[in-house]
Amino acid sequence: MWSFRAWRRRRLLERAALPQAQWQELVASLGLLRGLSAEELRDLQQLVLLFLVEKSVVGVQGLVLSDAMRLRIAVQACLPVLALGLDWYRDVRSVLVYPGGFVARHEYQDEDGVVHVERAALSGEAWEQGPVILSWEDVEAEAPAGVNLVIHEFAHKLDMLNGAANGLPPLHAGMSVQQWAVDFAAAYAGLATEAELGGAMALDAYAAQDPAECFAVLSEAFFAAPDLLQGSYPEVYGQLRLFYRQDPLLRLGG
Ligand SMILES: [Zn+2]
Repeated sequence: MWSFRAWRRRRLLERAALPQAQWQELVASLGLLRGLSAEELRDLQQLVLLFLVEKSVVGVQGLVLSDAMRLRIAVQACLPVLALGLDWYRDVRSVLVYPGGFVARHEYQDEDGVVHVERAALSGEAWEQGPVILSWEDVEAEAPAGVNLVIHEFAHKLDMLNGAANGLPPLHAGMSVQQWAVDFAAAYAGLATEAELGGAMALDAYAAQDPAECFAVLSEAFFAAPDLLQGSYPEVYGQLRLFYRQDPLLRLGG
């Protein structure tokens, strides 16, 4: 079937190119991308090009984004969908970037029907059918092992493809929703126990917040420190390998 979108994308890729020196520098600076083959890097570059054409990545509160900054965000956003394709981000139209942590105002209704207003300083947010919001300071900051803000927020967008974020994105044919639930529930319970005990944790304790955060945090670890995830929750590593269709442990060396 002839697709206008596919045609438009092909035309665009024929004409557009990223400044190669800038691209090489970026690739070298992100440990996340280590071990990707030349072919995978070429595919990633094409995804990044399309991402930057199809989504608006804009600075807010006076932040002026350079091409290098937009590229740095786009490449981290595109890594998780390298083997899936950009259509998985069809609900992402814009990425808003604050200079630093931003104050979010949330209203939610509790079980008794009372609406609460919450204000919290955040480094990132993903809205259902809305933008991804990032703090540049946190994108740039040296993060602890396994932590990656951009991947975290985009994992939420994948989770939201089949409704509200609940830790279950649309799985591929042949994957078992039941097994996914069993493996994630076990990790979630394990992380909650670890968090309660209060000692040092290999993975970010924020994963114990709720199932949606569990999926987002473990997705970060999957790409940024796969050895930590494999060491603690190998079943979840296996599920994410099936879902993302990548094996970061193999390419980064475990
Ligand atoms: Zn989150």
